[in-house]
Amino acid sequence: MVARRYAKNGKKLDASSDPNCREFFFYTLTRFPDVTTANSTMIRSRAVNSIRPLASRRAWTCPACLSRRQFSSKQSANTPKQEPPDHRKLATQQELFISSIYSPGSPMFLPRGARIFNKLVDFLRKQYIRYGFEEVITPTIYKKSLWAKSGHLANYSDDMYSVTGNPKSVATDEHGCCPSEEKDPNHEEEDGEYGLKPMNCPGHCVVFASKARSYRDLPIRYADFSPLHRNEISGALSGLTRVRRFHQDDGHIFCRPSQVEEEIKRTLEFVKVVYTVLRLGVSYRLALSTRPKDHFIGTDEEWQRAEDALRRALDTSGMEWSVNEGDGAFYGPKIDIILKDSDGKEHQTATVQLDFQLPKRFELEYQAPAPEYEARGETTDDPALLADYGPVRPVMIHRAVLGSVERLMALLIENYNGKWPFWLNPRQAIILTVNTSAPVIEWAEQARNVIIGNDSQAYEDILAGRLPSPDHPLRPTGLGVDVDVSARSLGLKIREARNSGYGHILVVGDEDVKHKQVSLGKERMSPAEMRDKMLNMVDTFQ
Ligand SMILES: [Zn+2]
Repeated sequence: MVARRYAKNGKKLDASSDPNCREFFFYTLTRFPDVTTANSTMIRSRAVNSIRPLASRRAWTCPACLSRRQFSSKQSANTPKQEPPDHRKLATQQELFISSIYSPGSPMFLPRGARIFNKLVDFLRKQYIRYGFEEVITPTIYKKSLWAKSGHLANYSDDMYSVTGNPKSVATDEHGCCPSEEKDPNHEEEDGEYGLKPMNCPGHCVVFASKARSYRDLPIRYADFSPLHRNEISGALSGLTRVRRFHQDDGHIFCRPSQVEEEIKRTLEFVKVVYTVLRLGVSYRLALSTRPKDHFIGTDEEWQRAEDALRRALDTSGMEWSVNEGDGAFYGPKIDIILKDSDGKEHQTATVQLDFQLPKRFELEYQAPAPEYEARGETTDDPALLADYGPVRPVMIHRAVLGSVERLMALLIENYNGKWPFWLNPRQAIILTVNTSAPVIEWAEQARNVIIGNDSQAYEDILAGRLPSPDHPLRPTGLGVDVDVSARSLGLKIREARNSGYGHILVVGDEDVKHKQVSLGKERMSPAEMRDKMLNMVDTFQ
């Protein structure tokens, strides 16, 4: 059966259906039983799932964390008919990632692909300093009770993997060194099911609730690059766009109702900065999704206030925006950012989503004066009211700028058609030797060490038990530089380097050894100057 399916679609093989594969896993991965239907078959069939109205599925998919968002929705009529770039083909040519039958839908990034991935994540991390996000590191598996509290168990279980630990043989050893598990009130649940997280939101609510909060602490902005898992059907899996495991530049903002507008504005500015730097798209537009007609939580007044704040933020963004009436999730309105690329194709990437639901489910609160005013986002000068402190529910904003890093990479690969800007290029530079004489080869290696910041003296100091001296700090530059010292003609090596997509092709020969320099086309400079030139290119996103 498995073999037939494999042969039929050429490459897709569902390893989880192969009992032999399970031996490789410490954990057994299955889907949560469906708890939503009373007459329930234990696991809802995929066929049923696929005809479930989109709205009901979407309602419980944190839109900022949406992996199913449409990757490419529209093609301009003027686009000439030519084979569009395919990120899967380009990634194979450039050796960026592979897929394995042992983990369908979980891309395995090869060294060059991992470089791009890490550069994107590092870039986002650096922007967090300006935009006030603080990174947290949270678990991959959570007890079922957390998913029950968040509502995922009842509404999202089809799309989740459950996780069960192996039974522990030591549990019965009363004389063992391990503390008795009977003392653990959670013991019963320890043996139960856990869920592999499909999104970070509940974990961030737990972090928020871990201590008492005051209105002075807000807004609190958590960021998280955790891997997430969602149970996509095997037939839908494709490259980096339809995956079961992915990462997000995920963020959750907990703020006062009066801060919503400013937070949305900052998020839209953040989006603009990132998309401009990535040279993504000719333009993008914003779409506001408002309160659904029937099924929603929260009061009309709450919705009105939230939507008004979003409209004001959209107005001040200076961007083109439209309204998708009634298209919001039942727990809050949202703004989608829809990117149009140079071929006229539209891509939904970033989303900003207000959420009235999770803060209620997790009983999140902060202390503020005049709590009734505070909850409405209003202020008062009345000293008597201000003297009265009380709990107020924070507003939660889900936001992702890149969205899924994997999906964004697919978009970049196709958008650049494999020609990376220098700062993201997994092949930034290569040093080619003109001949294979020992001094030339040695100088090529020395030049590379200077450019990548591999200072042997710093390591010698450390290995001798000292810290590096100020003259020889340990300061890797992060630049990716290869060396080709092979005994082939320079012309051949240059052609090969060009075809491989190297950003800078440096050459060293006898003259360069003599003058302690490297050659870049007609330019000659010291390795240190070359390093600084490249770092400048990285810092200016060339
Ligand atoms: Zn979220």
